[in-house]
Amino acid sequence: MKPLPWQREVWATIAGSIREQRLSHALLLAGPDGAGKRHFAGCITAALWCRQLAGDGSACGQCADCLQVASGAHSGYFPVQVEDGKRDISIEQVRVLSEKLTMTQYDGRAKVAIIEPADALNVNGVNALLKTIEEPTPGSHLMLISARPQALAATLRSRCQRVRLPAPAREVALDWLRKTAGGKHDDATLSAALDHAFGAPLKAVELLDGAGLAQRSDWSRGLLDLAAGRGEPAVIAAAINEADPLGWLQWLYGWISRLLRMRIAATADGDAALVSLARRLPAELLDRYIAEVQASLPKVHGAADKKLLVESLLIGWLALLARAGRPAQNRPS
Ligand SMILES: [Zn+2]
Repeated sequence: MKPLPWQREVWATIAGSIREQRLSHALLLAGPDGAGKRHFAGCITAALWCRQLAGDGSACGQCADCLQVASGAHSGYFPVQVEDGKRDISIEQVRVLSEKLTMTQYDGRAKVAIIEPADALNVNGVNALLKTIEEPTPGSHLMLISARPQALAATLRSRCQRVRLPAPAREVALDWLRKTAGGKHDDATLSAALDHAFGAPLKAVELLDGAGLAQRSDWSRGLLDLAAGRGEPAVIAAAINEADPLGWLQWLYGWISRLLRMRIAATADGDAALVSLARRLPAELLDRYIAEVQASLPKVHGAADKKLLVESLLIGWLALLARAGRPAQNRPS
């Protein structure tokens, strides 16, 4: 299992630690969604087990241990995620994990626990995990995966070695996308997917594979329409509510953040409509709106009326546009 092209440098450091058997037993893999955190965790896991590492320190993919890893039948792999219907990772889940790590006999092969997303650990879960980290069982490695490491308790963060896994530069991402999905899509489509994935290549592939790209184009058009004085928040909100309100909120956060970056950098490359919008909207208003979107994110799970939540954010968007100086004249299109 090879690290992704943009992960080679950080991989060299980790591979060195694995080779010298001094890999930290608690790692925090941090980076945006779709930049390859889970893939990187897989590379570490495989390399910890492989008995004949390749020259770059990655797993060979062919030895008995690698085959066991590939089949998913390896006994030393302990994934922890949010269970169906739950909102967070509980203390019970962490206790079960600790027990498994202690009870599983150490046969010289690593025991790897992967907690994803680590920012879903609740307070009690964090406290239980701190104990596990402070009293590690022989051969165990804990990997916390998070796109929002700042949301993790400081006590937990400080006990983990942080591995930063950012999204690659645009050209690197496009180059990889061409090799991965270029046969099925032209360059313009790949580029649009990367835009809507905010530069995260694996997310771009996910969008290309499903209906995600068309959906995000619709979402983008909805906001641009409102900015041009067209469309009705209630109508747009109904369509979003039908499709994927949580996905929309996450996308909106990225879309506005990108607009803010364009505004600050005064960049002229990108979609013409976006560039002119970035010129029109003051940074402090965008900043305030981002905070509004961020505050709405945790509410979407429990919201009885998600359409109302979406609509209120669209009305907030209109208010931002109005405050920016050119009130949008909205009428049904
Ligand atoms: Zn191997």
